[in-house]
Amino acid sequence: MMLNHSTDPIDPAKLTPCALTEVLSQAATDPAAFGALCAEADQIRARVFGDTVHIRGIIEFSNHCRNDCLYCGIRCSNSAITRYRMSADEILETALTAKRLGCGTVVLQSGEDPFFTAPVLSAIICRIKNETGLAVTLSVGVRTRGELAELKAAGCDRYLLRFETSSETLFNAIHPDCAFAERIACLQDLRELGYQVGSGFMIGLPDAPLEQIARDIAFTTQLNLQMIGCGPFLAHPGTPLAGKPTLEHRSVYYAAMALLRILNPHAHIPSTTAFDALDPDGRDRVMQCGANIFMPNITPAKYRRLYQLYPGKPSVDEGGDASFRRTCERLTALGRTVSTEAGHAF
Ligand code: SAH
Repeated sequence: MMLNHSTDPIDPAKLTPCALTEVLSQAATDPAAFGALCAEADQIRARVFGDTVHIRGIIEFSNHCRNDCLYCGIRCSNSAITRYRMSADEILETALTAKRLGCGTVVLQSGEDPFFTAPVLSAIICRIKNETGLAVTLSVGVRTRGELAELKAAGCDRYLLRFETSSETLFNAIHPDCAFAERIACLQDLRELGYQVGSGFMIGLPDAPLEQIARDIAFTTQLNLQMIGCGPFLAHPGTPLAGKPTLEHRSVYYAAMALLRILNPHAHIPSTTAFDALDPDGRDRVMQCGANIFMPNITPAKYRRLYQLYPGKPSVDEGGDASFRRTCERLTALGRTVSTEAGHAF
């Protein structure tokens, strides 16, 4: 399929994986085609969501992890890092900071840490809901249906669990502790339990050519998600995937985000932190090709450096206040308005 350079919109129904591959490869080498694709995604975002951006403050509350995912800097066999856990009081304190700053949501993210059982997390969620009223999102990996039901009953609103790649073979090769089918079943449980569900993939994993990125975009769309979180794969030196290159054409990362917006007009799509590790203005660029959500890191400064899933993580030395202030400055410079609402899914 040729991507047209005129103002004619792309027909989403025609975007088969084969056509998506063609769009990605054209965006890789033709700046005009790439620009038209991003502009179309930006228009759809503006039409559906306007210029309002919802802010989700991320609290990275533990870097303990029992899993050994081949790409991840906090994998259990990385003995070079100092492990930490925030206490319930510290997590609540940080959530109160989020509230004071104007975040509508807190995202609690960690490794797969067995210390934070469903009852422990439930107690934390109850306290956050009671004392801040903020929307709460969990991003703590695969859990049993029973645990997810308990967390939902405690007041958890949303859950983020990326499928990482739609290639079952690749997924199983890079996740020694989790099967692809298990992760997809967990996404299904989350949906049935009434969570607002977010998922997505890493763009540009090793052994994932453009055709695979196209299949990942199509798979994401089939999942009919309320939230879509994707970011570039970045090789961490302390992992078996150390030294693996980024994609030859940077524009492919952004084109993938634009296509996700075009195919999923109503999904909440964040501009994820890893884009700033790819390019200094990476997150601004994603905000301009479809994203309507920004997720500043509000983890206390002393822990941030210890939570490095990938190299080049930005703002490791600043605190939540500074990150939030810079977020507002960036969004204002892009002509966007910061919302303090929860920003629930449709
Ligand atoms: N342990 C939880 C949440 C933390 S990991 C879970 O597994 O769901 C959050 C996301 O970071 C992962 O889903 C993965 O997509 C991303 N990530 C991890 N390592 C990365 C790397 N090297 N490059 C880019 N993204 C990475």
